[in-house]
Amino acid sequence: MSKILVLPGDGIGKEIIAQALKVINRLNDEFNLDMELIKGLIGGAAYDETGSPLPQETINLAHDCDSILLGAVGGYEWESLERDLRPERGLLGLREEMDLYANLRPAILYPQLASASSLKEELVSGLDLMIVRELVAGIYFGSPRGVIEKNGQSFGFNTATYYQSEIERIGHSAFQIAQKRDKRVCSVDKANVLEVCELWRETMENVAKSYPDVELSHIYVDNAAMQLVKEPKQFDVMVTSNLFGDILSDCAAMLTGSIGMLPSASLNKDNYGMYEPIHGSAPDIAGKDIANPLATILSVAMMLRYSLGQAKIADKVGMAVNVVLDQGYRTKDIAADGDKVVGTEEMGDLVVSALQ
Ligand code: NAD
Repeated sequence: MSKILVLPGDGIGKEIIAQALKVINRLNDEFNLDMELIKGLIGGAAYDETGSPLPQETINLAHDCDSILLGAVGGYEWESLERDLRPERGLLGLREEMDLYANLRPAILYPQLASASSLKEELVSGLDLMIVRELVAGIYFGSPRGVIEKNGQSFGFNTATYYQSEIERIGHSAFQIAQKRDKRVCSVDKANVLEVCELWRETMENVAKSYPDVELSHIYVDNAAMQLVKEPKQFDVMVTSNLFGDILSDCAAMLTGSIGMLPSASLNKDNYGMYEPIHGSAPDIAGKDIANPLATILSVAMMLRYSLGQAKIADKVGMAVNVVLDQGYRTKDIAADGDKVVGTEEMGDLVVSALQ
């Protein structure tokens, strides 16, 4: 039996997680998977009930479960809270607590969605890129940080920090993933300007020595952003820091048609994982039954593959998504003329039916 901590969070989080749970329940029935679902609180919803975006009970449940399935956190109503009480701090805190340093963000273009991509079809068809983002260090966590009064005005500052060991472990993750793919790692940094990136580049070179079968290249982040929209298929695995990975993976998302299509896994050294769509809580569309639940459903597939040892069933979930897209069903964000536009709930039901 596997215990899964389910954290819907805020905004569209509840709507998209509801669809993922339908899929899990169907998989339990169909394949006797015995996944036990335990609901918990995080983000704004947790703050409203407990006064904390990451209650101790959620931390205890996370340690007690085999993996976490998360919707999204955040929303306008919590934006004026002091920083440590904001929903996003809950998510960052949980990633840090469970040491989920390896964030895998695959950007795969489903052929049926080629016309939904922001790029020309010939540039994106067949796109299969894996962005490996370091998730628990770098400028999002570095100190000192803050906003103070200095020289008669407000002064804001953050610090980009990496220990060599933090770069090494994300490097090993990227190279090991590349060994199962096209055996190419492109490391993204800004070593021409930032000392922390010089260390990043030097460390990646050293890690590469353990993987002679994998080719390592380096690219500056500004060029990487340009190349992603110019010729995205040149990349196999991109490995990068927390901040650069956050930005580049949103950029890669649009190549696949919609941010609502991209799942992610965040793993620690024991392959304990948190699985979530890469998008946020989308308050602009929350409660309207129009959010695309496929990134969350595909996150369930990643959970089956990486944490629960069920690669074949993960493939079945991917195939079910394919079937539904083949049938012409689309949520609003990926719909083109002539498609059958469906809501969040119906898209979830269609994937469940396609699993049969
Ligand atoms: P967002 O990803 O929530 O939304 C960006 C745009 O994409 C919006 O127009 C939204 O409607 C659309 N979108 C997102 N997911 C979609 C889906 N599944 N289907 C269809 N359209 C979708 O980013 P944002 O607007 O910058 O942030 C909103 C809130 O989410 C903020 O509070 C932010 O801090 C938070 N956030 C949370 C996470 C997370 O929980 N992992 C990640 C990013 C942002």
